[in-house]
Amino acid sequence: MTSSLTTPRPPATPPQPSDLGLQPLEVPGIEVPRVIGHIVGNQPGPTLLCVGGVHGNEPAGVLGAQRVLAALAGLKSDLRGQLLVLAGNRAALKAGRRYLDADLNRIWTDENVARLRAAGVGETAEENELLELDLELRQAIGLSPQTYLLDLHSTSGPGPSFVVLEDSLANRAFGLSFPAPLVLGIEEELGGTLYHYLSRLGVTGITVETGSHRDPSTVDRAEAALWLALETAGLLPAGSPQAAAGRQLLQEQKGRLPDVVEIHYRHALEPDSQFLMVPDYAGFQLVEAGEVLAVEEGREVRAPASGYLLMPLYQPQGEDGFFIARAVHPAWLRLSGVVRRLHAERFIHWLPGVRRTEHPGRFTVDRGVARWFALELFHLLGFHREGPVARRVVMVRRNDG
Ligand SMILES: [Zn+2]
Repeated sequence: MTSSLTTPRPPATPPQPSDLGLQPLEVPGIEVPRVIGHIVGNQPGPTLLCVGGVHGNEPAGVLGAQRVLAALAGLKSDLRGQLLVLAGNRAALKAGRRYLDADLNRIWTDENVARLRAAGVGETAEENELLELDLELRQAIGLSPQTYLLDLHSTSGPGPSFVVLEDSLANRAFGLSFPAPLVLGIEEELGGTLYHYLSRLGVTGITVETGSHRDPSTVDRAEAALWLALETAGLLPAGSPQAAAGRQLLQEQKGRLPDVVEIHYRHALEPDSQFLMVPDYAGFQLVEAGEVLAVEEGREVRAPASGYLLMPLYQPQGEDGFFIARAVHPAWLRLSGVVRRLHAERFIHWLPGVRRTEHPGRFTVDRGVARWFALELFHLLGFHREGPVARRVVMVRRNDG
């Protein structure tokens, strides 16, 4: 999807950066080691990896996890398995910037990781962060038969917490235990994310966005998310008081928001484009089709469809201006779980315009021939799109284990 829905007519009075509440580039930097904490319980069990600060201007995840580590020191006898808390982008965390040379959450493609491992050293600050982090992650994945990931992030604008995941059945079950809207379809829009990479390595995991970078309560919600993850992954016994408090904190914020939404539109930004979001939008605010949301290169950017506005960009660094999402009916989720367990994709190449490739679990769809519902059907069957929406689309089966 491209950002082609701008109108050529400039607004009567174009907003200026000073009017638009644009956040300064930096947040206060923090200096942390790669391994922020590693707690081994008294009983065997799964491993939970918690990563904070993959974006360096998002320190809330690190700060929230540090609180949990301090509290867990007194609860070790209750803990099964182990918790490993890692810093994402250490150099960017120190600088208080999203990244120094390149976004660390866009470079975890298999090809890139293999190339860097072979070279042993990266060319950019983030490539070297990736190498260090990858070493810790791979060692940790071998520690126990089951590994979980909690990847903690925050946003430039305000808004409630939400969960982002690669929609495998295991990830979905893990994500639905958090009382925060679950957002599907982002992985089709963003390549090279850490959680997608770890999902391919068999880790069950989610990303949680816990609020805006500068709101002190974002740290409270990051802490809440980690307590909930410890209970959900089975490191803490069910009914842990900290997880109960965390659940209540997130539930109060979720209110009546839907359990699951799906991304319908991504407003991608060209590098160095002048993009200014209209002030005072928040995540999960409902917007109407045609509403002016931003100004880009002096032109109005209107909402191409009605829905929930997600991640409006209020900082200079970033590749996405905003997303628009729609609620997913719970019946659709139940149905998709059933058809995926039945492996109904055995028959999907019977559809006109759908072809098998030499790789199992990978199909091409000719959208000029396939019926309009072909991509929706693939989603239902547990596939995700690879590459842009074009006449020929490649759909790849998710790893449902
Ligand atoms: Zn982030």
